[in-house]
Amino acid sequence: MNTILPSDPARDDVLAGRPTLWLNPSYRKQAIDTSDLPVSPADVQSARQSWRRLAPLLAECFPELKDTGGEIRSELVELKELREALGYRTREFGNVFIKADSHLPVAGSIKARGGVYEVFLFAESLARQNGLLGDGEDIRKLATEEARSLFSGHTVAVGSTGNLGLSVGIAARALGFKATVHMSSDAKAWKVERLRKLGVDVIQHEADYTTAVENARDIADADPTIYFVDDEQSRHLFLGYSAAASELASQLDERGITIDEENPLFLYLPCGIGGAPGGVAFGAKAIFGDHVHAFFVEPVQSPCALVHMMSGSQELVSVYDVGLTNKTEADGMAVARMSAFVAKVMREMLAGVYTAADDDLFKLLRMAWITQRQKLEPSAAAALLGPDFLLRHKEGRRFQTLNGIEEKMSRATHILWTTGGSFVPEEQFQNFLRQAEALA
Ligand SMILES: *Cc1c(COP(=O)(O)O)cnc(C)c1O
Repeated sequence: MNTILPSDPARDDVLAGRPTLWLNPSYRKQAIDTSDLPVSPADVQSARQSWRRLAPLLAECFPELKDTGGEIRSELVELKELREALGYRTREFGNVFIKADSHLPVAGSIKARGGVYEVFLFAESLARQNGLLGDGEDIRKLATEEARSLFSGHTVAVGSTGNLGLSVGIAARALGFKATVHMSSDAKAWKVERLRKLGVDVIQHEADYTTAVENARDIADADPTIYFVDDEQSRHLFLGYSAAASELASQLDERGITIDEENPLFLYLPCGIGGAPGGVAFGAKAIFGDHVHAFFVEPVQSPCALVHMMSGSQELVSVYDVGLTNKTEADGMAVARMSAFVAKVMREMLAGVYTAADDDLFKLLRMAWITQRQKLEPSAAAALLGPDFLLRHKEGRRFQTLNGIEEKMSRATHILWTTGGSFVPEEQFQNFLRQAEALA
């Protein structure tokens, strides 16, 4: 018998690889003390400022950002036909929206909020150190030949299951850096192709994500010209993602949607190592406080945040430790061991985690396409199941009772954070649809 996971209503389902919802027993609704955490709400504020400072440079490097003045934003899409198809028609489901990071410019996934941010911040600090950017000087100087020639002597490296590599590779090459991406065995061929075309050195490991990251880190440690974007412990990535929350807040505001004691907010965030969903959740807590409840979603065979946080262990617990395989088609979430940094930050902030089976992800992907022409990759489709768990699963109903919000559900707002998809090549997307049809 497995003794790593304590007794819990979700335990048997987790171990058997069955979709389920786990409620975090350490979840604190009341104001969380961030004083002993490695990040603070003030850091979220300064990340927003950094994004603003970088915007003119981003607009210079990426023509697709000209319209937004260099801001990397996604749409908040109201569920209509898809709401019917998902069975969320009735009033008790409140407001339901997709936050379409699947269509984020530059990188086509939520990684545009993390990888691009860290690479551009690095470029800025390198330029300052080398006397190329003085106080108050135009940030667009970083797009000049002089800056490119400085950057070309440096390499940006990263380990990835695919999308982080895409985002970091695209950002690094846009500024003239050399780039190396260490891909795990899950990485899809088209992501590798796309990077190679940009002149990125792609190293494919016959190993999982954690091992790819370790390799990349070792190589970078031995070479001072390599800057390593460390997905397992990067504050920059985390804070880059966190700025998404204020974007959401203003979009809700524009629609006249209030979030307060009587009108709770639910976020459903696909989770790999935890940086992207953790950053967004942290940013949202900084804005909405007790009124937002953040849930992660993970594949049934790769629920690394779920098993680690459920274990309550000080040492990181991986999905292999509890007999799961880490095999999934949802490559953005094919991670066996979560970030220790994110685990610490989310310990009392995460409401829970639900899991999704690969077959369901394909069906949901097809449903989103047919009903509302939302092009998603399997990882992103996992977000669509959140309201189902909260309203129909017995643990979801227990969550409502525990938090005294049963009567408020019809006034709640659910955000299905669809994390990637628009960059998937047409042929590959048609394959996803065919796989889904075969399941129907
Ligand atoms: C990376 C990614 C995630 C998860 O982000 P983490 O920071 O690894 O937790 C979810 N969905 C997609 C499509 C991704 O690319």
